Parts: sequence; structure tokens; C-alpha cells
Amino acid sequence: MKLTILGSGGGRYVLATQILRTSGVWLSHKNKEIFIDPGPCALRDALSLKLPLNKLTHIIITHQHLDHYGGAESVIESAYFYQHNKRNVTLITNTCMAGLHKGCDKLISTYHLSLLKNHVIVKPDDEYLEDIRFKFSPTLHHEKYGVGVRIDFKDISIGYPSDTEYFPEFSKYYKDVDVLILHFAIMNKESNEFRHASKEDIKKMISKTRASTIILRHFAPPVINYGIEKLSYEFKEMFPTKNIIFSQDLTTYNI
Ligand SMILES: [Zn+2]
Ligand SMILES: [Zn+2]
Repeated sequence: MKLTILGSGGGRYVLATQILRTSGVWLSHKNKEIFIDPGPCALRDALSLKLPLNKLTHIIITHQHLDHYGGAESVIESAYFYQHNKRNVTLITNTCMAGLHKGCDKLISTYHLSLLKNHVIVKPDDEYLEDIRFKFSPTLHHEKYGVGVRIDFKDISIGYPSDTEYFPEFSKYYKDVDVLILHFAIMNKESNEFRHASKEDIKKMISKTRASTIILRHFAPPVINYGIEKLSYEFKEMFPTKNIIFSQDLTTYNI
């Protein structure tokens, strides 16, 4: 499996300043090309890395924050172009992105929805089955309809809990994945109005999974200012049996 971190950053400050990229994650495995949370500059970054938009099969948007969906329409349009006007892409979004609740705008235009194979709208605990399985988890986050996703291929499973604090049922969804992608935005719980995972939350998440590879991203100023290299050293000391990767922008990891 190839996992490309287009953007290692996340949150409002990083989105506004682009001190790190906020363009999402691309997963390539067994004829599936899956773009998760294509934020602003997703298309430009995907093109610069020569990611196969001509083979894109899925786009997943976990919740209605700009760092997770801001590049989605341009990616849909480009995939349609590179796939010679064929509708091959399945878009999976949470219910808020589809405008199904008060305070949630429908954020993908009718035109761009018309360029897709289909649009699957999911809520926590839903499953979506093709020849691979997508299973969705709840989040404890500012956008209350958000989902995390676990993707099970025949030979490997990937967990992406998205933006969330640690929650008690975490292990129910992610205990037996092989690879876990975690969003590490804050150091402690103080002033956590957006409800992101703190250092303690990240430690709990790692200790509740059997995943041998942990990829961290969605870094925001508290984490960046503390020092990503320092954190990388600390976490490797804490979890010596796991392969812990503090990801970098525009980097592909072979797993
Ligand atoms: Zn975010
Ligand atoms: Zn968010």
C-alpha cells in the first residue's frame, strides 16, 4: 500500500497561513485510489506528485471543515477530465456535507455531484460495502456530525478517525487495524473549543490499537511550536514496538 500525505497540517491557523499544507491524504492499494479529506490546494499538490487522478476511485470527506473539503470540487472536476468524461468516482461524505441538518450547508455543487458515479452519505456506524469495506466511526469534534473511517482491504486495514478527541468506544472501531492515521493538533485540553486530540488522547489512541504503523498528521500550532522532531523522539521512546511516523508534506510512505 502507498499512503501519500499531501498535507501534514490542519486546523484554522494552518489553513489560513499554509505554514504546513492542508491538502489531505491519498491512499493507493489494489486498484483503489482513495483521496481522503482533500483540503485547499489538493488538486495542485496531487498533480505535482503525479498522483493518478485518471484512476481515482473514491473521495471521502469526513466533516464540514474547510481543511477537509476545500479542494474537493476541483479534484472531482479534474478526475472527470483525466478519466475522459467518465463518471468513475464515488464520493463519500458525512450528512452535514450533504446539508441534511440545520446549520449545515450543502457544500458540493449540484454540477460537481453530476460528475460522479455516486454520492454515498454516511453517519457513524454505517458500513459501505464494495469489494472493500468502509466502516464509519463517530467523532467528538466541533462539527458534530463528523465521521472517522476504517477501510478494510482483503490484506490490510487502515484507520482514519479524523478530527476527534479520544472517545471511550475508540477501540471498538480501531483496535485491529494495521495502520492508523491520527490527527494531532493540540498538546493539552485547555482552550480546546474545537475538540481535537491532545497528546494524552494520542497516547490513549495508540495504546488502544494493535496497529503496527501509526502515521501522525494534522499538526497545528501547539504541536508545531512544541517541536515535531521532539515529539517524534518521545513517542518512539514510549512505543518502541510500533513504527511511529510524524508525517511530512508531499511524502509517500510505502507500507
Ligand atoms: Zn481539521
Ligand atoms: Zn475539523
